[in-house]
Amino acid sequence: MSTGVAPSAHGIIGNNWFDRDLNKSIYSCFDPAAKTPEGATSGKELGPAQLLAPTLAELLERATKGASKTIGVGWKDRAAILMLGRGDLALWVDGEGALTSSTHYVAKLPEWVQALNAPIPPAARYSGRTWDRCGEDAAYAGLVDERSFEPVHGGTRTLPRPVGKPAPAKPDISAVCNSPFALDVVQDCVEAAITAEHLGADATPDFLAIGFSAVDFIGHAFDPGSVEVRDAILRMDQVLARLLEFLDQRIGLEHCCIVLSSDHGITPAPEVLRAQGNAQAARGQFTEALARFANHTLVTAFGEPKPPHKRFVIDGTAGGIILDVGAIAASGRTRREASTLVVDAAKSLPPLALVIAKEDLPAALANAGSPAAKDLLSAVSHATHPTRAGDVLHLFQQGLNDSTSLATHGSPWPRDRAVPLFARGALFEKGLLCPTKVSPASAAALLAASCGLSLPTGTAPLPPLR
Ligand SMILES: [Zn+2]
Repeated sequence: MSTGVAPSAHGIIGNNWFDRDLNKSIYSCFDPAAKTPEGATSGKELGPAQLLAPTLAELLERATKGASKTIGVGWKDRAAILMLGRGDLALWVDGEGALTSSTHYVAKLPEWVQALNAPIPPAARYSGRTWDRCGEDAAYAGLVDERSFEPVHGGTRTLPRPVGKPAPAKPDISAVCNSPFALDVVQDCVEAAITAEHLGADATPDFLAIGFSAVDFIGHAFDPGSVEVRDAILRMDQVLARLLEFLDQRIGLEHCCIVLSSDHGITPAPEVLRAQGNAQAARGQFTEALARFANHTLVTAFGEPKPPHKRFVIDGTAGGIILDVGAIAASGRTRREASTLVVDAAKSLPPLALVIAKEDLPAALANAGSPAAKDLLSAVSHATHPTRAGDVLHLFQQGLNDSTSLATHGSPWPRDRAVPLFARGALFEKGLLCPTKVSPASAAALLAASCGLSLPTGTAPLPPLR
């Protein structure tokens, strides 16, 4: 959203991926040079080092010769860091519930952040509270709160529920993170950041990225059709109202350009999909199983790997199946031979909607037979980075939840991709609608246009408005 390009170009193909140079799986915000800043207790090795495309904040800094203030705030480190990129200050919530950053941004945590963290971390303050419905009964019409497949949180499947235990019990940050109080934690920090960093105070445009992750956490934990998600959406709406009111009072909304979107949708839990008639919907470690299948296929064809090699397949991630090129070469075979064998063997597996060698993707896209096939392959290709993606790319059928979460996302199927994109600002007259589907990557173009910035070629264009 803030680079205007797809993962194939910005390189962030997932939360983690396998790095061939380092020969290990790395986190999307792995930044080996970054350390914990003074005044914080976490932040080590977190920064934007893996981001391969400039963000809007970086372009703005360049255009204003550093006069712009650029800040990212998120519950998740990856939301704050990757939306901001190499900007002034990214802040996120750590495992203790405190706001932190890394030395990529600041040698010392700003005084105002340290003040927010004292005497107890912001998220810890919400531990022990009760989460109850915030809306009228009608707002939850048609939803069933007690569903046997929902996990028990705080001793119950229904609202109200306790979010952690009150003091003197140890604060339960993961319970706060799976509750709408996480929205308040982020919003409290946003207001403090706008005030302390004087955002919007002069004629030079500033940039603020906010990652409200609570709806994502709650969707994973309770399923998108839950009372909990409905309540989180209602509370998200209230927090946005609070944000707009705050911006209006401090800066004036007429001086703000705002884009709202989401980085993904979500697919309902397999239990819900089965009840809706999708008999194959299931939850499991499907990629891990596929990686074992691929390894078995290669052992059958090539014989056991030559010592010291132990396997032909290193890993299976959302980015595909990673082949051990060294082990394959030691057996006198090529990576291409291996990927072709795996693809041919896996093609007949019922759970797979697509399996393809990475280098065959461009040709498959060019020769796609139907608009639906083209759309799917185009989405896969946007998510595939030439060096970070696996050797064999795969896509499971709709409804196969490849995780341990109740519900999840991360596929190119429609439910994971459908997101709103909303823009507000001086450039957009009231009531303009975009007549076609656009990518949330257009967020960059919408914001760039509002402050007269031009984006590099290859970025998603300004959507057609009418
Ligand atoms: Zn998620």
